[in-house]
Amino acid sequence: MLKVLKLVIVGSCLLTSLAFVFQNEPLSPKSNSKVNTVVIDAGHGGKDPGTRGRRTKEKDVALAVALELGRRIKDETPEVKVLYTRSTDVFIELGERSAFANRNNADLFISIHCNATPRSRSVRGTETFVMGLHKTEGNLEVAKRENSVILQETNYKQKYKGFDPNSPLAHIMLANYQSAFISSSLRFADHVEKKFQSVSGRESRGVKQAGFLVLWRAAMPSVLIETGFLSTPDEEDYLSSEDGQAEVAESIHQAFKLYKSEMDR
Ligand SMILES: [Zn+2]
Repeated sequence: MLKVLKLVIVGSCLLTSLAFVFQNEPLSPKSNSKVNTVVIDAGHGGKDPGTRGRRTKEKDVALAVALELGRRIKDETPEVKVLYTRSTDVFIELGERSAFANRNNADLFISIHCNATPRSRSVRGTETFVMGLHKTEGNLEVAKRENSVILQETNYKQKYKGFDPNSPLAHIMLANYQSAFISSSLRFADHVEKKFQSVSGRESRGVKQAGFLVLWRAAMPSVLIETGFLSTPDEEDYLSSEDGQAEVAESIHQAFKLYKSEMDR
């Protein structure tokens, strides 16, 4: 068993907790990595299908991409612990997804989703979100749609402190939550969008910010990736195909490798 050094910085108070597991062998360079555990979060699931295309459900694309991404990370970097918030078609509450990452001292949280818009059947491309204040109505719309999942949870008003997923003001207040991990989150998000372009020739709509409940309490760098528009028929075809899902997973995987190598430098 390798020595494990975990450094967890919680919130802005810089509370650090160090856990050492000592054995006889010397500390290997790999155990000094800052990216030891990644939590991959397939959006939606079970009674919550997410958005839909003509025949494709967001929850199914998200799960397929999440599992493929995890396989690729495990294959190339077996020293990285890969955990999934779900690996089957089950409903998981939004708050539980980041809580799971926190409990497991994850170093990176990747939430995978599909986009949709009622206004166009030709808008295309990827966008990667980090927690922050939305700059456009479009960004707010994405957050509202993703956050509306809590309406399917019991006691959501208590769990999310009265958060109203339909209220713009609630989203502004949520976005004012300052993450201590914003710069690392932005760095990873930037890699993801660049790799979508360079690895699979996708159209990138850029790195964006909005208030997402699934990222709200994550105590580590975290992003939400909109992998494409199920409301656009050819993007739906791409995202529902095995080749398309493999390309999406590989793009995120390449971003992960680059991010990890930079963090460990
Ligand atoms: Zn979603």
